[in-house]
This record gives sequence, C-alpha cells and structure tokens, in this order.
Amino acid sequence: MQYNYLVVGAGLYGAVFAHEAKKAGKSVLVIDKRPNIAGNVYTEEIEGINVHKYGAHIFHTNNKKVWDYVTKFAEFNRFTNSPVANYKGELYSLPFNMYTFNKMWGVVTPEEAAEKIAQQREEITSEPKNLEEQAISLVGRDIYEKLIKGYTEKQWGRDCKELPSFIIKRLPVRLTFDNNYFNALYQGIPVGGYTQMVANMLEDIEVRLGVDYFDNKAEYDSLAEKVVYTGPIDAYFDFRLGTLEYRSVKFENEILDQPNFQGNAAVNYTDRETPWTRIIEHKWFEFGKDKNGNDIPKTVISREYSSEWKPGDEPYYPVNDEKNSTLYAEYKKLAEQENNIIFGGRLGEYKYYDMDAVIDAALAKAEEELS
Ligand code: UDP
Repeated sequence: MQYNYLVVGAGLYGAVFAHEAKKAGKSVLVIDKRPNIAGNVYTEEIEGINVHKYGAHIFHTNNKKVWDYVTKFAEFNRFTNSPVANYKGELYSLPFNMYTFNKMWGVVTPEEAAEKIAQQREEITSEPKNLEEQAISLVGRDIYEKLIKGYTEKQWGRDCKELPSFIIKRLPVRLTFDNNYFNALYQGIPVGGYTQMVANMLEDIEVRLGVDYFDNKAEYDSLAEKVVYTGPIDAYFDFRLGTLEYRSVKFENEILDQPNFQGNAAVNYTDRETPWTRIIEHKWFEFGKDKNGNDIPKTVISREYSSEWKPGDEPYYPVNDEKNSTLYAEYKKLAEQENNIIFGGRLGEYKYYDMDAVIDAALAKAEEELS
C-alpha cells in the first residue's frame, strides 16, 4: 500500500481530513474529478474579483474551535451577510427583522411587530408539521406569502407543505434592527478566496485532479489502507437502492461594464415568477475592492437557477424530506457494513451541512481516526 489514506474529493471535508492525517504523520493522496480543488467553495478570480463559482459561501460559526482552525489557513474579512429580498420590485431587509416588519406592515416598535406576528400566527393551532406551517408560525402569513413561499418553491421545486420545517428555522427572526443573516459570533470571507484557503490546507499533500474515482475504483482502493469518500453516498453504491434526490443549481455568470449592479452581494427574488432565485454580485463580498485595495471598475454577477438534480448535474442540496431521509438511512446501513471507508461531508452524509459544521465533522472524524 502506497498511502495510509485515499481522500476522494478535495472539498472542505476532504481537505480538512487530509490536512489532519498528514499532520499526524500519515501518507495521503487526494483525488478529485474536477480540474480544481476546493469543491463547491471554489473561487476563481475574474476581473480582480473572487467569484464563488459554485454559489455564494459566507463563512459563519459560533464554534470557536472551528474558527481558530480556519483562521490558520486564511485571514478573514469583516463581511456580514445581509441579503435583500426583491418581491416584484418591493425591497425588504433579510433576515426577518424590524426593518422587514416596518416595510411590510408600517409597524414602528418591536411591540407592534410582535402583535402583528401574534395575530397572523393564530391560524396555526398545533405543532407545525411542515415548512409552510413553521414559516407562518414564525413570521405570519404576509411574510410567508411575499418572502418565503415563492423563493422556497423555486429553490426546492416542492410545495412548502411537503418540505421539512427545519429548513426555514435556518433563518433568524428578530425584533431588533439587526439584519445580520446569521446568528454567528464569527463571520467573514477568506481574504484571497476560498481556493487559496483550501490550497493552504492541502499544502505538501499529493493531489490529483481531473480523475474520477469510479473510473478506476479498484485500482485507487488498492493504493491506500483506507478511503475517505466525500461524493454522493448513493453513487458509491451504484444507486442500488434507488437514487437520493438532490437539488442542483445552475449559474448564469455575466461580467458587466459597470461598477455597481445591485449594491449588495445577494438579492433574493422571492416571487414565484422570476425564474432565478437570487443574484449574487461577487465584488461586495470584498467591499468592491481588488487585492490591492483599489475600486474595481467592472462587476461580475451570477443569476442562480435551482433545478432537480439528474445524472450529469452537480448535486448541491440534499432534499432531507421523509422519503429521502428513509432511503438515506438504508444507504447508511450499507455504508456501515463496508470496511476501511469513511463517508463524509454534505454528499457523503446526505446532510444540509454548513461549512463550519463540515469542518467540525471532519475534525471530529480525524480525531477519532488518528488518535
Ligand atoms: N428562504 C426564503 N426566502 C429567502 C431566503 C431563504 O424563504 O429570501 C428559505 C428557503 O426555503 C431556503 C431556506 O430559507 O431554502 C434557507 O435559506 P438559506 O439562505 O440558509 O439557504 P442557502 O444559502 O443554503 O441556499
């Protein structure tokens, strides 16, 4: 055996695990089918702007251990995410806070806002069973109709009544004028881009890009004592129990010859009719400046279109509804019967992980494995 570990996938889970294994004196080979490292946090510089090629990633965490860890590999700027919602030309502040309530209802005090929400949630009389009920119970029907329903149905391609309530609990609801999207103590974007951060994690580790594990699985397996697999768990088992559903995202990127398109990194289009879910204007993740601190005359925007995953597409979001969770549990049983393989990350564990949780999980697994 040439290596102690073969890591399949050079995204965050794989990079963190590989880094830890190498640090513990193990030999590691990382492979990825893409021509680049960093998985879906991959950033590419275009016109002096770090473009988040696989969707916007804003690092945020309350986990000091994870924050101390990532800041070893990158310096983080002070970016705070405050998306704007555009509902048929009306603009609202996100997440749901006093600015949102003021615009929606004209209420001025937190007490008035709380009263309005209390009235509107009266229609929900028992424990919310799905995303729709959960949303109305959190913020009332008006906000549900204008800021949640259309966006969520575009994003997930499913009715809000068929979606699990935890998805909407990701968003804070605040009776203060605080439009920070995340309840996180630590937040920011790595200066120099995520790709550089992941490259720093993978320093001195052998990485082979543009190679598909499944093209030569037996050969790759024979190279290492153990495999860390971060691809889709159902693909690993050749979809033998059926396919898990994922949402995919397609991006329409444009370079515009103007300095400021929308004045914010993220604008969500929350009506049902606009075909895209959001537009990202990447330069605002770094305050419109290039790496030398100069203003950038152009801008790069990405319209995001959500679609049901089909073979050949990139999987982005696991659909953690009942049907898929049940099927995943069956795959997990198969995974537990395998020897010398670790399944990790958003695809390997079929879990709607944020970046910090992925890093935490990879660190925990590495600790368990390497101690
Ligand atoms: N959401 C919404 N309206 C918005 C933004 C989000 O209804 O303007 C809902 C939607 O269901 C989405 C979920 O909140 O899937 C979680 O949003 P988040 O921004 O955390 O999703 P991500 O950035 O991971 O796509």
